[in-house]
Amino acid sequence: MLAQGRSYLAIPGPSVVPDRVLRAMHRASPDIYEGEIVDLTATLIPSLRAVAATRHKAAIYIGNGHAAWEASLVNVLSRGDRVLVPLCGHFGRGWAGVAQGLGLEVETIDFGPSAPFDPARIEAALRADRDRRIKAVLAVHVDTSTSVRSDIAGARAALDAAGHPALLMADCVASLGCDRFEMDAWGADVTLAASQKGLMCPPGLAFLWFNDRAAQARARASLVTPYWDWVGRADPDAFWRHWFGTAPAQALYGLREALDMIEEEGLTNVWARHATLARAVWAAAEAWGQGGPLRLNVPDPQARSHAITALGLGEGQADALRRWTKATTGVTLGIGLGREPASAFFRIGHMGHVNAHMVLGALASLDAGLKALAIPHGDGALDAAARVVAGA
Ligand SMILES: *Cc1c(COP(=O)(O)O)cnc(C)c1O
Repeated sequence: MLAQGRSYLAIPGPSVVPDRVLRAMHRASPDIYEGEIVDLTATLIPSLRAVAATRHKAAIYIGNGHAAWEASLVNVLSRGDRVLVPLCGHFGRGWAGVAQGLGLEVETIDFGPSAPFDPARIEAALRADRDRRIKAVLAVHVDTSTSVRSDIAGARAALDAAGHPALLMADCVASLGCDRFEMDAWGADVTLAASQKGLMCPPGLAFLWFNDRAAQARARASLVTPYWDWVGRADPDAFWRHWFGTAPAQALYGLREALDMIEEEGLTNVWARHATLARAVWAAAEAWGQGGPLRLNVPDPQARSHAITALGLGEGQADALRRWTKATTGVTLGIGLGREPASAFFRIGHMGHVNAHMVLGALASLDAGLKALAIPHGDGALDAAARVVAGA
């Protein structure tokens, strides 16, 4: 009954699509041979470069994050090459699984479900690779399952300290447009993302950014297949090669609008907004945890994502709480992922098109749910969150 009204899909992707983006997409298909869609494509590349803080090349695919994973690997690697994958949750495992499926050798280092990767252990693994069989380090910036944020610049420092030539690839599907990320300054050779998280669009577009070192690796890679080849897609002078078929016109109208919104707000302001809203979530969670089982999954604030927060409760309680808020307050929370038992974990997505009233509303819904379900919890959570917002 109380859920009638505008609902909040507070899951970590797909995220809330702004009305502006939906309206921009609500158009008939254009002439795809000339005119607006060709010009619009040309404007997307500089904007995509800006959002990843790189001066290098960008390629757009019709696909999701999994497509970006596959594209990132096949463009620079050959069957039998080895990749090093630090694991901080479900998504690192997923990328490693795609690598394995492509016939690559996968070496993992598991950092558990609540901590970022330790660059010193990456450096040690690279030093141990004396015959340089590792060709790439697959680093997930924010693992959406655990809400752990790792240090991409730290991974670059580990590669440099070991004097190892492997490429550094960063999965920014969850973090791009939410958490600060600077591809060139941090030394990522390849960055990947998708449209439906911080970029505020429907699912359906995948993005790769790659620098000159990665482009050189492409020349040697034997895994690459025609659809996933980034060479034509990143050619600024060849509209047809960009899309390898029909351009996803409506998705591109939406993307243009979303990138306009980020540019209007300013990327550093976007990052700051996410940082403050995340702190409001943490403040509430810490207060709840004073008097009950609720816990932030990541103890170290420096290692917490600003786009998503994973929380733990008693077994079954997280599932019950999710069901309650969805049915009673119109807030849909994310399921537990990559943690056991899954019914003891849930996630709040606060990525993309979110503001203070949405996050405060989600927190108030959780507060009501804890009370309705008689799950013990500390007092003052909403007060603590409001103080963060008030002090912003
Ligand atoms: C969501 C996500 C993916 C997978 O994206 P899909 O679009 O669901 O395929 C990969 N990596 C990270 C970090 C993600 O958050």
